[in-house]
Amino acid sequence: MARPASSELRHDQNLAASWQALLDCAVRLDWECRTGEALEVAEAAYEAALEAGDVTGALRVSHRLALIHFNKETLPEGLKICLRAETWLRYCQDQAAIISLQSVHGGILVALGDLETGFTLLTDCQKRTKSCRDPLANWRARTAYAVALFDSNDFDRAAEAAAESLNYAEASGLAKDSVLIARSIASRMAARALGEHRLARKEIDESLLARTQAQLQSILAEAQAEKLSYEIAECHCYLGLLAWASGEDAVAAGRYVAAIAAARVAQDEVLEAETSYWYAYLLAGRGAFDEAQSLLAGVEAMEQVLAVPRMKLRHFDMRFRIAEMAGDWRAAFDHHKIYHELVVEDYRRLASARAYTMKLALDLKTMRRKEDSARLERERLLEENLRLAAEQRAAVLASRTDPLTGLGNRRELQLRCGEWVEAGVTHATLMLVDIDHFKRINDIFSHSIGDIVLRRLAGLLGDTGPEGSLAIRMGGEEFLLLLAGTTAAETFGDAERLRLLVQDHEWSLVAPKLDVTCSIGLADWSLADSLEAALHVADANLYVAKNSGRNRCVAAAT
Ligand code: GH3
Ligand code: MG
Ligand code: MG
Repeated sequence: MARPASSELRHDQNLAASWQALLDCAVRLDWECRTGEALEVAEAAYEAALEAGDVTGALRVSHRLALIHFNKETLPEGLKICLRAETWLRYCQDQAAIISLQSVHGGILVALGDLETGFTLLTDCQKRTKSCRDPLANWRARTAYAVALFDSNDFDRAAEAAAESLNYAEASGLAKDSVLIARSIASRMAARALGEHRLARKEIDESLLARTQAQLQSILAEAQAEKLSYEIAECHCYLGLLAWASGEDAVAAGRYVAAIAAARVAQDEVLEAETSYWYAYLLAGRGAFDEAQSLLAGVEAMEQVLAVPRMKLRHFDMRFRIAEMAGDWRAAFDHHKIYHELVVEDYRRLASARAYTMKLALDLKTMRRKEDSARLERERLLEENLRLAAEQRAAVLASRTDPLTGLGNRRELQLRCGEWVEAGVTHATLMLVDIDHFKRINDIFSHSIGDIVLRRLAGLLGDTGPEGSLAIRMGGEEFLLLLAGTTAAETFGDAERLRLLVQDHEWSLVAPKLDVTCSIGLADWSLADSLEAALHVADANLYVAKNSGRNRCVAAAT
């Protein structure tokens, strides 16, 4: 099927249903490096998600928008997108969407120099991955963390994190395209870390080097099969870096030459410059200073490259290093002076970044006011709806829950039993649990100790029974435990265990000399019959247990 043109999609009347299609289109445009169009289509997707009232959609689209800005290094724009999306985080239940957005948000903050807030977000994302089953989002959290370590020049930990991201990409069963991207990003990071280690004359992690090499070679083969010149250039560049890190200069030189040629085909000056630096450093190391200088002069002609602060810094660092190797102290001094000024400038930029991000957050309201008022109205309505829905959910939850113990109440019992019938549950055991002489506990130890006993008992009930059992506070000191799909004969042993658990609990920690026991009446409930009738039987059995001395379980009605 032909890809719909972006303009067609933008004018689609039925935007509400099409945010996903628009987002897919934006992702494709982004992959094709048609950044401007990708941003436009993604903005349309954002509006469509708002119109559809889909919070997860708004977050997923925001992730893509922010990521495009992050890769373009238009960080303030990316940050604005993240701040705008913060409204929806409160209402979103989708961990994958939250992790994806927060990972870019953290990455952007670190790149802007606000390490503290940035790493707080990134660490929070790592924690969230424990309860998220979406491998792509979980990989994003790991990778964003590794990239942030790079951006803060912590190459040791960056190498570790890159290895971790590589492990995850290999083991997590991501979709085919995603795995390729995941592996290539992880390998590039690992290669860069190893290159930086060699530059700093640090020890090289041989096993990481071998693994990264294997990954890059297989990615290169795929990229060559599909004639993806940018990926080919990158693989050559980083394979060169790895060869150089392990002392194979001739191999490295061959890779660099191939990388520069492929980067020219891909028309990517930043990548060409990046490779030229590594190559020039290698040449200078072998005494070929003229060649090295002419490579650097070539980079100097690329205006686009020196406009990127990170690349400008790299440039003068390399010029200084190479002049120093050549023994040209005058040039080394001049370049170092420029490098030093850039570093100071960079620090100044970092120092003001925190204040800057705070100001941006404050500016958000103004920014919104200036935006399209129809969109603002949609945002306001959606937020209002979400707030009401959240309030309603909380009210329903409260009306189903016993505030003292946190267990469900009789209303919850009714609702859940209805669900069981729908799910095809045919029978269950009822255990009616009543604390023995509870009135005395209240009288002797106080009402508040009585309350603690009730809460503890609720906890013990929660631990009894298989998954899917239901514990309810029926009222006062009377509880009901329902075990779906079981009979009283099968679960009599469980009831006994529960009774002993209560009896042997360390009640003296609640109050010295406190002892608590309970009596339990069991009954079978066939869901075709009324719950009331089965409860009546359980109650009769409880009565027998009480009358025959308490602290016992009774299953058969007399
Ligand atoms: P039995 O062994 O026959 O069950 O005797 P009992 O004392 O446990 O039973 P009874 O029904 O006579 O007394 C129940 C007591 O539970 C009376 C009431 O004050 C107390 N009670 C009910 N709800 C609460 C509560 O929320 N907190 C506290 N602390 N006590 C409560
Ligand atoms: Mg009682
Ligand atoms: Mg009672």
